[in-house]
Amino acid sequence: MHDHDDDHAHGDEHAHGHDHDNHYSDMQARVKALETLLTEKGLIDPAAIDAIVDTYETKVGPRNGAHVVARAWSDADFADWLKRDATAAISSLGYTGRQGEHMRAVFNTAETHNLVVCTLCSCYPWSVLGLPPVWYKAPAYRSRAVIDPRGVLAEFGLMLPENQKIRVWDSTAELRYLVIPERPEGTEGMDEQSLADLVSRDAMIGTAVARKSESAT
Ligand code: FE
Repeated sequence: MHDHDDDHAHGDEHAHGHDHDNHYSDMQARVKALETLLTEKGLIDPAAIDAIVDTYETKVGPRNGAHVVARAWSDADFADWLKRDATAAISSLGYTGRQGEHMRAVFNTAETHNLVVCTLCSCYPWSVLGLPPVWYKAPAYRSRAVIDPRGVLAEFGLMLPENQKIRVWDSTAELRYLVIPERPEGTEGMDEQSLADLVSRDAMIGTAVARKSESAT
């Protein structure tokens, strides 16, 4: 089920091909050269750029997905819609655009945990999760998530019950996945914003689960 063929069509972010993992792509080299030049001329501060990238990787982007998850936990009709037509349901909250055109939401249950990977490169739902983390693009994650998902999750600190199946979804440029974690126990009275705070980026990729309370890590 994880073989690759023509249906793994790739968008323009993959124009660099797939065997340059340890080298800069043309685009990366161009960006690096530009950044170096602008830094030398004193026009930009690399630390500021890092801060901006970090913001999009860990804050702005994933908050969109967390909003989707919190709405699904709070509103059964929305959850149904999300199951049937994730692209439309997510768009209704205002999250659309590049790398989010065709979405599928996969719901964790007591029986099945979902894990998302792109074995070929780094397809990722930008509209709900922002920029992919570095490990998501790493060859080790991309190959091992399929071969040994339970072992990979253990390395992320996530020990699933032996009887919980792990289903691995291989993203493509055509279809991106959003994991809907299980709603933690003891969160019955919480509003949507507080629920969203329980949902990390990794929980929506499947390398974590939702936190039980806002203070816990
Ligand atoms: Fe990809």
